[in-house]
Amino acid sequence: MSRITARLAGARKGWDSLFRRHTGPLTENLVRSPGGFGLGQVPAAQAPDATTAMTCGFCSTGCSLTIHLKQGEAIGLSPNTEYPVNLGMACPKGWEALTVLKAADRATEPLLRDATGRQRPVDWNTALSVFCQRMKAIQQRHGNEAVAFLSTGQIATEEMAFLGSLAKFGMGLVHGDGNTRQCMATAAVAYKQAFGFDAPPYTYADFEQSDVIVLVGSNLCIAHPIMWQRICRNRHRPEIIVVDPRKTETAMAATLHLALAPKSDLALFYGLAHLLIREGWIDADFIAAHTTGFDAFRRHVSDFTPERVAKATGIDEATLFRVAKLIHQGRSVSFWWTMGVNQSYEGVRAAQSLINLALMTGNIGRPGTGANSITGQCNAMGSRLFSNTTNLLGGRDFQNAEHRADVAGILGIDPRQIPDRPSWAYDQIIEGILQEKIKGLWVIATNPSHSWINQNMLRDVLSRLDFLVVQDMYTTAETAQQAHLVLPAAAWGEKEGTLINSERRLGLIKKVARAPGAALADFSIFRLIAEAWGCGAMFSRWTSPEAVFQSLKELSRGRPCDITGIADYRMLDERGGIQWPCQEGTADPAAERRLFADGAFYHEDGRAKFLFDAPRPQPEPPNDRYPLLLLTGRGTASQWHTQTRTSKSAVLRGLYPTEIYLEINPADARRLGIRPEQRVVVESQRGALLAKAFVTYTIRPGQVFLPMHYEATNRLTLAHFDPHSRQPSYKNCAVRVRPAGTAERVP
Ligand code: SF4
Repeated sequence: MSRITARLAGARKGWDSLFRRHTGPLTENLVRSPGGFGLGQVPAAQAPDATTAMTCGFCSTGCSLTIHLKQGEAIGLSPNTEYPVNLGMACPKGWEALTVLKAADRATEPLLRDATGRQRPVDWNTALSVFCQRMKAIQQRHGNEAVAFLSTGQIATEEMAFLGSLAKFGMGLVHGDGNTRQCMATAAVAYKQAFGFDAPPYTYADFEQSDVIVLVGSNLCIAHPIMWQRICRNRHRPEIIVVDPRKTETAMAATLHLALAPKSDLALFYGLAHLLIREGWIDADFIAAHTTGFDAFRRHVSDFTPERVAKATGIDEATLFRVAKLIHQGRSVSFWWTMGVNQSYEGVRAAQSLINLALMTGNIGRPGTGANSITGQCNAMGSRLFSNTTNLLGGRDFQNAEHRADVAGILGIDPRQIPDRPSWAYDQIIEGILQEKIKGLWVIATNPSHSWINQNMLRDVLSRLDFLVVQDMYTTAETAQQAHLVLPAAAWGEKEGTLINSERRLGLIKKVARAPGAALADFSIFRLIAEAWGCGAMFSRWTSPEAVFQSLKELSRGRPCDITGIADYRMLDERGGIQWPCQEGTADPAAERRLFADGAFYHEDGRAKFLFDAPRPQPEPPNDRYPLLLLTGRGTASQWHTQTRTSKSAVLRGLYPTEIYLEINPADARRLGIRPEQRVVVESQRGALLAKAFVTYTIRPGQVFLPMHYEATNRLTLAHFDPHSRQPSYKNCAVRVRPAGTAERVP
C-alpha cells in the first residue's frame, strides 16, 4: 500500500466511524439515499445501464441533462429533449459537466496548514476537531460574531439551508453572506422593494411570446446561450433592443443596439419614461389599479427631457423616440437585465427603472411581458430564499419577532437561538476582518481571492485571519491555497438536492458519480460539523437532503415562494421541474407559469411601487492619469466565473483564449502605439496586469474591456457598492494602457 493510499484509508476509517453514527457506513450511504436516486440506486424501473435526468450545475438557466449510466455510474450525458427549459439543447459547459469532476486537482482529503506553512493531509476526525477547536477558541476570546461564513449559489438548496441554520442557530454566528451578493443582490432588493417579495415574475416561454424584447446589460448569446436560443424560437419577428456600451455578440444580433455611455442607464430609462408619459403611451388603468407612487415618479422624470438624456447617454433624440414608440407599439414587451445592471453602484434603482417601465405600460403578468432579472449561478434563487444569510429562511426577516417564532416552531428550536438582526453583507464582513472584528472565516464553494473586487486588498485581508477554512472541490482554487484548513467537497453529480433556476423552477441534482477519495457532500460535512460542534441534536431531523426538502416546504408554507404542493423529489423528477409557487392542493401545476397575472403584488396593499432616485456620477471616472474606462464581463460561453471548473476541461479550454486579453478600440490602440496581439500593461490605482491586445471596434474609444474569468482582472477593479444591495460595481473604473516591454513583469 502506498503512503497516500494508506493515508486515504486512515482518513476514510476515521471519517467512516464518525459518519456511521448517523447514516451508516460509506457504502451504505452511497447506495441508499432516501430519494432513491443515489449512486447504485437509480429508480427501480431503470436498469443499471439506463439514463437519468438532472439539472445542470453551472448557470441559472437550469437546463436538464440526461445522464447515461453504466452499472449505475455516469459515463456520458446529452441534453434532455423533454425538459421545458432547454428543449434538447445545452451549451459547452453543460456538455462538459462530467469531465471536470475527474480533474487531477480535486480535493480528496482534508488539508491542514502546519507550522512550516505547508498544507498537509489529515483525516476527517482531525479536520473536524481542529475546525471546532479553533473556531470556538476565536468565539471565546472575541465573541460569537468574530467568526463568519461566506456561502455560494453553487450548492443545493438543502445544503444552503443546512449551512445557514448550522452557522446561525447552532454555532451562534451572526454574520454570513453568499457570493450571490456579487451577482443577484441588486435584483433581489429591487424586487423586494418594488413588489414586496424577491420574485422574478417570468417564465422562459416569455422569450418566445414577446414582440419587443429589451435586453439591458446582458450578453445573452454567450452568458445564457440557451435563453438566447429561446429568443431564436420566437415566431413574432420581435424587435430585439440591446442596451450595452459594447457591441457584444448579442448587440450584433439585435434589431437595435443602444450603445449608451457607461452607467447612463438610469438617465436612459427615466428619459424613456418621460417620453412615454409625454406621448400618453401609458396604461393608466393598470397604474391606478395596481401601483403606488406614480405621481411622484411622473414629477421625477419630467426633468429627463430628450435633450438632457441624449447628452447623458450619447443616444440621439430620434432614437430615444423610436425606442419609446417601439415599447408603445409592442403588444407584449419584456424587459430583461443581468450583470450590466446588477453590478453597479446604482444598480437597484436601475433595475427599478426597468420595473417602472413595465408597470407604467402594463407589461407584466401577461405572456411575453415582465421586468425580468436573469440570474447568474445555478442556485442563486435557492440562496435568495433559503440560505439564511441576510434573509431568514423562506425570504423572512431576522428582525421580525413573528418570523423568528415561525421558523423556530417549524424547526423545533428555541427562538432565542435565531439572531434578531441580519448579517453584515459580504463587503462588510471583509471590512470586519480589516477592523479585526472577524478573526475566523469559513468559505464554502466560492473563490473570493479571484472573484472579489479589488483583489490585492482582499487577499491581504484574508491573510490577516487567525483561521481561514475553505470547503471546495479543488485544492488549487486561489482561496483554498490561502486556507489554514481545506475541507474536500463532493461536486455536482456526486450528491443530491434541488436547485432553483432563473424562472423559479426547482430541479433535481443526483448522485451519479463517486466523489474522489475522502471528499464528502457538503450536506454530509455540515452534519459532521454539527455533531462535532455539539449541536447535532438540533439537526436530528436533517438526516438527508430530501428530509430537509420537507422542512423547506414547511418553511415556505403561506409565503410567496410556497412549495408545499411539491410532494417529494420523485414528483420534481417526473414533472420536469416545478416553478414556485406551488401550494398544497395544486393538482397539476402547469409546466410554465408567470406571476402577477391577477395584478396582485406582495406589499400589504397588494400594489407595486414606483421607486426612483437621481442618477449619481461615477466614483472613479477616467482622468488625466488613468484616461480609459475599464468594463468587465463574461468572455465566452465556455468559461464559468473563476474557471475553477471550466479550466479543467480540454474541450472547453480549446474554445476560449487561455491568455487574458484586453479589448481596445483601434483609435486608442493607434494613439497608444499598440498593435494587435501585442502584450500590454493595464494599470489602475490598485494594481496592474499583462494582457494581449485585442484591437476591435466592438469597444468604443475611451473604453476597454477585460473578461472577468481571468485571475488578474480584479487586481484593477474598484471596491464600490450599491447602497441598497451592497452589490459590487465591477464594471467601471479608470485605467491606463501601454505597450509592455519584451521581458516586462507586473507585480
Ligand atoms: S446554459 Fe447553463 S444550465 Fe444550460 S447547459 Fe449551459 S451552463 Fe448548463
